[in-house]
This record gives sequence, C-alpha cells and structure tokens, in this order.
Amino acid sequence: MSKKCVIGKCALCGRENIQLMQSHIIPKLVYSRIKTYQNSRFRNYFDFNQLYQDGEKKPMLCHECEQFFSKYEVEFTNKFLDKYLDLNNQSLPPQYDGIQNYIISVAWRIVYDDLFIYNSFTDTYMRTTYELLELRFYVSTL
Ligand SMILES: [Zn+2]
Repeated sequence: MSKKCVIGKCALCGRENIQLMQSHIIPKLVYSRIKTYQNSRFRNYFDFNQLYQDGEKKPMLCHECEQFFSKYEVEFTNKFLDKYLDLNNQSLPPQYDGIQNYIISVAWRIVYDDLFIYNSFTDTYMRTTYELLELRFYVSTL
C-alpha cells in the first residue's frame, strides 16, 4: 500500500482536486484490536499469501471527511467495542444512540469500494441493486 499523496475527488463530499487520505475500508480500530491477539495476520483476500501490516487502505476521502467518520469510530470504540471486549465476548453491551452512524459509515465504505474501486458487478443486474444500496448508505451518512 502506497503512502504517496493522491489528489482526486472525495468519495463522500464530492470535492475535486483535493488531497485524499489513505482511508481504511474497515476502520483501523478493528485492526488495532485484532493485532493484540497472538499470531494474528492481515491477508489479501484475493492472494492469501500476501500479508499486510495493517488493514486495507484506499485513497477515498478528504481529511475533513475522514475526521467526520472518525468521530463515529471513536464513539463506537468507547461506547461499544471496548466494553464488548472487556466482557470477554460473553455478552453484548447495550447499544447506544448513534451506533447506526458507525455501522452505516462502514457499510457505505465497503459497498463504495466494491462498486467504484473494484468495479464489481459490471454488466450484471446486481450492479443496479448495489448502486441503489450505496446511494442509500451515502445519503444516510450525511
Ligand atoms: Zn470529503
């Protein structure tokens, strides 16, 4: 994964000719917790022999939009994920108001990445379905 500066269009706010951050598709908080488990590894889904030091990142969002999603990630970590891990996976902590913001932001990144970066489902009826889903997630993040 390259750390070079990428100028492009932000996938969320739509601003063009703006510096894009290396955005985690699955938030970094998930990877940082997985790393605490002994012998955990991150692998390329399409090439299982390729190991990553960190989760998959893409030049997707501008700094401002990264910060916008970051607040949902921090809230999710503090109000749900860390409590869940402290309970040793025995039960789920209570949901908090706003948990849907985190879930939708992750779902949108996954669908956006699949549709517009991997260009999946080209020339299939599934493409339209996923495009509508992506639009619905996108609108929900705003
Ligand atoms: Zn943006």
